Amino acid sequence: MVKRNNNITKHKFNDRKVIITKLTDLTAKLSGIPDLERKILSCLQCGYCRAECPQYNQIGWESASPRGKIYYLEQLMNISFMDPILDRRFEVNDKFIKQLFCNSCGLCEVNCHVNIDFPELWEELREWLFENNLPVPEIISGMRSTIDTYHSPYVGGFESGPPTNRNQTLIDKFKLPKKAKVVFFVGCVSQYLLIKILNSGIKTMRKAEVDFTVLADEWCCGNILGTTGQGKSETFEKSAKHNLKAIKETGADTLVTCCPGCYRTFSQMYPKYVAKPDFEVLHFTEFVADLLDKGKIKIKKPLEKTITYHDPCELGRLSGIYEAPRKILESIEGVKLEELFYNKQNCNCCGNGGGFNSLEPEMAKNITFNKIDEVLDTNAETIVSSCPNCRYGISNAIIEKKNILEAEGNGATLSLEMMDITELVGKLGVEKVE
Ligand code: SF4
Ligand code: SF4
Repeated sequence: MVKRNNNITKHKFNDRKVIITKLTDLTAKLSGIPDLERKILSCLQCGYCRAECPQYNQIGWESASPRGKIYYLEQLMNISFMDPILDRRFEVNDKFIKQLFCNSCGLCEVNCHVNIDFPELWEELREWLFENNLPVPEIISGMRSTIDTYHSPYVGGFESGPPTNRNQTLIDKFKLPKKAKVVFFVGCVSQYLLIKILNSGIKTMRKAEVDFTVLADEWCCGNILGTTGQGKSETFEKSAKHNLKAIKETGADTLVTCCPGCYRTFSQMYPKYVAKPDFEVLHFTEFVADLLDKGKIKIKKPLEKTITYHDPCELGRLSGIYEAPRKILESIEGVKLEELFYNKQNCNCCGNGGGFNSLEPEMAKNITFNKIDEVLDTNAETIVSSCPNCRYGISNAIIEKKNILEAEGNGATLSLEMMDITELVGKLGVEKVE
């Protein structure tokens, strides 16, 4: 008979008790998340949410699926004295924490049969991680200090500190006023990575004779902080207060942005974490579609092309704006709009949101490649989106996919153009209708 080493067993058991005690503390705090128990207990474990989840489809483990995460949370909520006896191991470990930082695309909510509010749940769980000093991936927590220091998630070229009055050159170049009815909020991606979008937005506003300006000292809106559970941070609050004050000083009653992230931050996150803006917040597509609707402008040049439209997660599913961009595309003479098989609220994420592309760049790229394959199933020559982030990620992936195909040397190539809708409207031009 093998003699049992009771000391080791006892030691292990005591360790387990300590871990369980700590977890019980933690799960008590979990129940502080509003409505968490209802959200978790209402899950049927049917798995419908898994089918289109881009994170699950890349990782392939149940633990990465919305259902798997809900199941594990339920176990965490029900830690009991029996767990050490049964040697059931529960840990809020690195792996579990990492799975909570997904694309934040919101498709799981659309597919869930009991309507669990997943975008809200994921954000609350990420807040819970920060509030309990749990080991959040550094690339996520580091975003806060970058934004704090540079007032932008991009350091690029400003290692010595943030540029002061980063939009002053635009104000000088376009002779924009200090006071105006509309503020065009440029956004960090357009400012630092895709200046074409920003120039197109300004060009359109000028041609439409809108009384507008930009903020000389615009700061990052803080979207990535809100999405990754850092909406309650001092950095987020500072950014919000700075931007809200700067907009108030212009006397504007409307804010227009071409970025769905900025749109959602001003319209949903500032009211939740800081203060409700006392001006109207519009996405560029809503603003232009309204001018077209009222017959105040028309798109100048025709375009003989078949176009497909990708609904950005933060503009579509997370903000409910589907018609305005389509109205603009349909108003362009010669354009044939062909929908993707998965469109509007079912549109698949392009992989470039929620910070997932910083955390898992290879997986995010594969998700973008899948999006390109979806586009190739249509007759479209051009894919248009209403998001500088989608524009940046998809056009880079098109170049990479094309290079891969051409390197294979069997004559295959990829001919697909990616454009942001602000860029497209700027390129075709608008004219005022008298
Ligand atoms: S938000 Fe998107 S990526 Fe995250 S779990 Fe839901 S479907 Fe998956
Ligand atoms: S679809 Fe909803 S109910 Fe079904 S497993 Fe997913 S979260 Fe649970």
